Amino acid sequence: MKIILLGPPGSGKGTQARFIIEKYGISGISTGDILRDEVKNKTELGLKAKEYMDAGKLVPDDLVIKMVEERLNKEGYVLDGFPRTLSQAKSLDKILDRINDRIDYVIYIDISEEEIIKRMSGRRICKDCGSVYHLLFNPPKVDGKCDLCEGELYQRDDDKEETIRKRLKVYEEDTKPLIKYYKDKGILRRVDGSKDIEEVKNTIEDIISNI
Ligand code: AMP
Repeated sequence: MKIILLGPPGSGKGTQARFIIEKYGISGISTGDILRDEVKNKTELGLKAKEYMDAGKLVPDDLVIKMVEERLNKEGYVLDGFPRTLSQAKSLDKILDRINDRIDYVIYIDISEEEIIKRMSGRRICKDCGSVYHLLFNPPKVDGKCDLCEGELYQRDDDKEETIRKRLKVYEEDTKPLIKYYKDKGILRRVDGSKDIEEVKNTIEDIISNI
């Protein structure tokens, strides 16, 4: 099973990706998580990526494409946060053609800008395992601590309101064209992202059950 999760920053892609990974036992490829790891470990790639990420901009395509190519496998995966530009989508198609593979579905999580801003400012992430929480919608059992590993929760720098607005603009300009791209290929499935986490999860599972 090969799935792409598409949607604006803050639409819940990361949360839904985790559900899918756990339920179906496939791997997750989150370019945002991989990049944050690289930044944390101060690798060459991390040092290059950091300035773009902190500014709410996209990391250059060639760096991200290479990172994803190394992680694609035949067994199955859910791509979260990639592709984010038409050029990334076309590169992915080329890579998949070469290895005689294809994406089953692109699940588009559709949600308004106001809802996103409300959500993202409450988002908290575990420093150790990357689990995602929300102060209002999905609070941890103990304030500031991860339910799964007791790691400390933090707010991403790029979840601050000014950066969120910049990231939404980048999404409008660079990523939105992908909706039409995948619709034309007949593999796009839209999900209403304003519903609660559980409902979005069930809808996604219905879509996946058709594969
Ligand atoms: P995310 O966690 O998916 O919201 O990604 C956080 C940040 O990482 C983005 O704002 C970008 O700076 C960078 N990033 C993640 N995925 C990509 C991608 N596919 N292409 C370019 N930059 C990316």
